[in-house]
Amino acid sequence: PYDGPSAAEIARKRAEFLSPSLFHFYSKPLNIVEGKKQYLYDEQGRRFLDAFAGIATVCCGHSHPEIVDAITAQARRLQHSTVLYLNHAIADFAEALAAKMPGDLKARVFLVLVTSLVPVVFFTNSGTEANELAILMARLYTGSHDIISLRNSYHGNAAGTMGATAQKNWKFNVVQSGVHHAVNPDPYRGAFGSDAEKYARDVQEIIEFGTTGQVAGFISEAIQGVGGIVELSPGYLPLAYEKVRKAGGLCIADEVQAGFARVGSHFWGFETHGVVPDIVTMAKVRACPPLCFVPCYQRVCVHVNGEPDSVPALRRSPSYLQGIGNGIPLGAVVTTPEIAQVLTRRCYFNTFGGNPFCTAGGLAVLRVLEKERLQENAFIVGSYLKDRLRGLQEKHEIIGDVRGTGFMLGVELVTDRQLKTPAKDEICHAMEHMKDMGVLVGKGGFYGNVFRVTPPLCFTKEDADFFVEVMDIALSKI
Ligand code: PMP
Repeated sequence: PYDGPSAAEIARKRAEFLSPSLFHFYSKPLNIVEGKKQYLYDEQGRRFLDAFAGIATVCCGHSHPEIVDAITAQARRLQHSTVLYLNHAIADFAEALAAKMPGDLKARVFLVLVTSLVPVVFFTNSGTEANELAILMARLYTGSHDIISLRNSYHGNAAGTMGATAQKNWKFNVVQSGVHHAVNPDPYRGAFGSDAEKYARDVQEIIEFGTTGQVAGFISEAIQGVGGIVELSPGYLPLAYEKVRKAGGLCIADEVQAGFARVGSHFWGFETHGVVPDIVTMAKVRACPPLCFVPCYQRVCVHVNGEPDSVPALRRSPSYLQGIGNGIPLGAVVTTPEIAQVLTRRCYFNTFGGNPFCTAGGLAVLRVLEKERLQENAFIVGSYLKDRLRGLQEKHEIIGDVRGTGFMLGVELVTDRQLKTPAKDEICHAMEHMKDMGVLVGKGGFYGNVFRVTPPLCFTKEDADFFVEVMDIALSKI
């Protein structure tokens, strides 16, 4: 039984001592005290099905005993910086991760006549750091400065990645040096529907009219996560990669959300597009607010729940996203040895990125993924869940679109299917109802009107049925 402080006490401390920018979903923030597999428990022992636990890469389920054992064993033995000494936990995980890269990445290395055929891994503590490093490497390697990213993308919250991120919701007063945002190849809301060639032409025009004709690189997610589970038009990425490479640039795949078996059919999201990037980034591992929420969404929720708009940002509840480290801070950049060489021109290191504690956990995650065949589960149960959600779309006019792959699914709510008017208030009501019935789901998208369904990869068919039933009731109520 939980004998810690009450939810009210924690909320008071958060309001007093923590950043005022923190936010949460529900009218009353949940005090989650324990997690096991696909379930979370509050202080009263109430169980919630967590359909937003693993919004990124691997998610073997909360508190997986093998992963916990690996981390605690390493913590008992040694925890230190990554840099100065030899340590097998770090090297073992790097080796295992490199082995997960598609053969073609190695083949590209071969084509440029580098002696090693093995991709090289740099560890970081977060996705932001990983993308910052990838952008830096692309600029150093090519000698060019311009980076192209997609509108509606999210790549992080430091200077370079905030610049690459293309949604006003996530931008502060950032100086966007040499960043260009291409038209988003969004089949549902995009200007050119699913016409990949038209979208790719925009990349070409950016290169021709916005740069010297030479670029440093192109960065994109395989499925946009924060942007509301937006699948890129089929055929777009190969065309965009081709144009960027012709302009001397490197292609960066941000796999922070879509990687690590989440899409089910493949281990990496980029594989679903048939491309091989030059640099792959991954992470998603910290304790953080449960969704891609912006203050305006928060106000909507506050209002919807009958409280005044002026209520200070006290709605704060933690949720634990799980990624390549299944909940511990770990990110990585994987690239070819040739590109990796650029970081030997100066001293580069990251004190804690890939420390023994985190990499021991990362290696255990890879083992559990394989042993429990979680990628296969993501494919089978994810496809089943998507079909069932499509069925729900036939019943509820408010569902404008159901999309995504594996366990990275989106359900977009609109008040008018023709006009695609975002149902911003309705989604808040629905989430509250679902929470009351024991289901936690995420939301996101530029308008905050898309359910993000990214459960742990151990989510079962029964969980999927329960989830759909609860969403059905919630949508019937609003
Ligand atoms: N890239 C993508 C696609 C992400 O979704 C995120 C996090 N939402 C990041 C990068 C940044 O990761 P982090 O929050 O760990 O810095």
